[in-house]
Amino acid sequence: MNDVTQFTRADWQARAAALRFRNQIWIDGRAVPAASGARFESVNPATGAVLTDVARGGAEDIDRAVASARRAFEDGRWSRKTPAERKEVLLRLAALIRENVPELALLDSLDMGKLVKDASTIDAPGSAHFFQWHAEAIDKIYDEIAPTGGRDLAMVRRVPLGVVGAVVPWNFPLDMATWKLAPALATGNSVVLKPAEQSPLSALRLAELAAEAGLPDGVLNVVPGFGEDAGQALGRHADVDCLVFTGSTAVGKMFQRYAGESNMKQVWLETGGKSPNLIFPDADLDAAADMAAFGIFFNQGEVCSANSRMLVHASIAEEMIERMAARAAQAQPGDPLDPASAMGPLVDRKHADTVMGFIASGKQAGRLVCGGERIARDASDAYVQPTIFTDLRPDARVVREEIFGPVLTIQTFKTEDEALAMANDSPYALAASVWTRDLGRALSVSDRLNAGTVSVNTVDALSAMTPFGGMKQSGFGRDLSIHSFDKYSALKTTWIKY
Ligand code: NDP
Repeated sequence: MNDVTQFTRADWQARAAALRFRNQIWIDGRAVPAASGARFESVNPATGAVLTDVARGGAEDIDRAVASARRAFEDGRWSRKTPAERKEVLLRLAALIRENVPELALLDSLDMGKLVKDASTIDAPGSAHFFQWHAEAIDKIYDEIAPTGGRDLAMVRRVPLGVVGAVVPWNFPLDMATWKLAPALATGNSVVLKPAEQSPLSALRLAELAAEAGLPDGVLNVVPGFGEDAGQALGRHADVDCLVFTGSTAVGKMFQRYAGESNMKQVWLETGGKSPNLIFPDADLDAAADMAAFGIFFNQGEVCSANSRMLVHASIAEEMIERMAARAAQAQPGDPLDPASAMGPLVDRKHADTVMGFIASGKQAGRLVCGGERIARDASDAYVQPTIFTDLRPDARVVREEIFGPVLTIQTFKTEDEALAMANDSPYALAASVWTRDLGRALSVSDRLNAGTVSVNTVDALSAMTPFGGMKQSGFGRDLSIHSFDKYSALKTTWIKY
């Protein structure tokens, strides 16, 4: 039986007990230990139990991985395959991901605490879909001939960049890796991927599946390790042509510095958010509340585009607060392997400490509507209740800073201009939502919102077909869609006189 929606908690537990973890570094198509021999523990935040110990890659391992990626790129074993040939391999990888959905979903769930029901119906099938989409697109994009006229032929072609370094976070381990790998590989690059230290396991399994699909050795290397050594070594490496990153704004800025102080590699950043969700009185308030709850409690609120700031018209504020409190009551955390749970634990105890620090500051700065407590279960205290604050000062930390947890603030406005001023008063500009039945208002408010994506009468609208990324300190460059190929290719002109 492979219909994951029918799996019970006992089914998932049995599969978890039978898992074999890949816990070495993946270089040149082989699993190898770290040059230093160092290892680190991968801990299940749901229970506090150690899952396995993982090779801790450092600068020497990054060197080996980059050298392997460079060799593979230069000899053309992948970079000079035709787009149709690359498509075939990546389609096989998508099929293998589909065959292994339960395993990949479990790896992410055990590693970082997300609900296995989400990992198995959203993350892992999503990864297969994103590989398939980019694979299918790559042999349908035509290059250009410039309109020079005369006896000149100026061809403008897209060429791969070379070696891409990808540093990804722990909130969607498999999908964030996929968002970088699918377009980077489809365009013919070689990649060195560094997964987050909290969640390296699915990336290591993905590398093995890619090899099984026929990706040549050296084209994809995965170096688990810590940001300050493996991540920094990749960011500073003189033979890396392009560095793509998803994570915090603070670390994104480091990658810009690393590039400036090394070889001026291209850097593309998808960093944090503090996305506003504007609710006007003419909206379908039940639908708005349902989606707003999804927007902040899905994945424990550990989502860069989470709708963490609700801005609601004063005339409907009390009824929206009531609706949101009712939905928060339904979103209590539990065992991530239990299909009945609404949220899992946060990624680790340290992050739960950070989120609880924000909650403590929120209690000083405004009114706690519900939640606000940490919950211990199964020797883990990484669970945090869904939490809502209102009556906050505009300069409160919970209003201004990215919390990355299940914490919603609700503020009120009286006019459209006031709503827009509040919404745009943020260093971030990743996503925003608007709820109204008035089409004119929906369009004019969307036009004036600072955000890479504005969702109208929904939250966090996203697909392989639409670009995802931010403005301001949410970063630049776009994942997904045909535009994602821009980051991984350069325009090259070949001019022929005849
Ligand atoms: P980070 O930005 O620290 O981590 C993201 C990636 O960068 C990880 O692979 C990490 O490695 C790596 N990294 C960390 N420090 C360095 C460094 N000095 N040089 C090179 N690479 C580095 O996110 P955190 O996991 O620490 O989370 C902190 C906050 O960041 C969250 O609370 C949230 O606000 C935000 N965040 C945003 C995400 C998003 O999707 N936009 C995703 C994750 C976090 P390692 O894991 O080994 O530290």
